[in-house]
Amino acid sequence: MIPYGKHDISQLDIDAVLTVLKSDFLTQGPMVPRFEQAVAEKVGARHALAVNSATSALHIACLALGLGEGDWLWTTPITFVASANCGRYCGARVDFVDIDTRTYNLCPQALAAKLERAETEGRLPKVVVAVHLCGQPCDMQAIHALGQRFGFRIIEDASHAIGGKYQGDYIGSGRYSDITVFSFHPVKIITTAEGGMALTNDDALAQRMDLLRSHGVTRDPALMTHEADGLWYYQQIDLGYNYRMTELQAALGLTQLERLDDYVARRNALAERYDAALAELPVTTPWQRPDSVSGRHLYVIRLKRDRVTPTHRQVFERLREQGIGVNLHYIPVHTQPYYREFDFKSGDFPAAEAYYAEAISLPMYPTMTHAQQDEVVRALTNALEVT
Ligand SMILES: *Cc1c(COP(=O)(O)O)cnc(C)c1O
Repeated sequence: MIPYGKHDISQLDIDAVLTVLKSDFLTQGPMVPRFEQAVAEKVGARHALAVNSATSALHIACLALGLGEGDWLWTTPITFVASANCGRYCGARVDFVDIDTRTYNLCPQALAAKLERAETEGRLPKVVVAVHLCGQPCDMQAIHALGQRFGFRIIEDASHAIGGKYQGDYIGSGRYSDITVFSFHPVKIITTAEGGMALTNDDALAQRMDLLRSHGVTRDPALMTHEADGLWYYQQIDLGYNYRMTELQAALGLTQLERLDDYVARRNALAERYDAALAELPVTTPWQRPDSVSGRHLYVIRLKRDRVTPTHRQVFERLREQGIGVNLHYIPVHTQPYYREFDFKSGDFPAAEAYYAEAISLPMYPTMTHAQQDEVVRALTNALEVT
């Protein structure tokens, strides 16, 4: 089976983790701050907070932005459920904005129209989570301008997008958002096994997220409500969690980070090779923004329904039968049973649902060979019954 994604572990990665195992610190040592500083410097952010997953990073990001009961969080339906669930963790209501038909990201025009309606109804969102699907950045300048006008805060869910660029800046620079989140799950662009990070240029948000990831407990006298009783003293000043990253994970992240640009270049080369190989097939290949570099976490094609005889499901199953580990990113979140409880139904977000009926993620990862890629193209040609 050719998997849809695959991590790449080098001897350098293994040595780095072993060194930590033999050291004095397995957690709360020097590697986590080193990893945070390296990522912050790489993408041009002031603060970076490593945590045990992107899901945790999204949670503390929402809390730091003050999201709570009675508030709304808006995001795209075409994302992993975590982009929406973070709102629910805080007791907020979640709503969705339909996707752009070219990028499959949250559509700024649909967002503007929905905001105007929400304003008259008095239910504007407090937070909008912009997800850079497949690594391709959202139209952040437009979303930011709407944030200024309608007063919402912006989280970039860049779980797919580390190493990519928007208008010349690395994603994570935070030019058009309050907080950016990365995931280091093994299928993503670089990995720490499990792991995530929240980046911000705002000192107060960084301080809040730092507290929230570690029980709301501080040893910093400047943050305490009254003077320390002694050298042992710590103070819980808020309700936080244990979302810390381990030293092993941070060491792995540091050596992975050194290969980030290579990975993104390799992924882009493979994507362009797919573009060329699929040009004659009845599929839509991924359109790319001219002002961006995508991290190319995923390569998603859409079937041209009017030119393909077998159904979407048949094409997908035939690919799997031929040993091609295709996947589908994603089932529209509003159609999940959990979210249907909030009165969402099929038909609410037509562009997202049309995408879901046609999309297939083809295998792509940095160590994929051209021979493997050719095998995918052959299998797809068979599955589509192209004659
Ligand atoms: C993977 C992913 C997440 C969650 O990442 P974890 O590190 O596994 O918690 C969130 N959002 C998107 C878009 C993702 O792809």
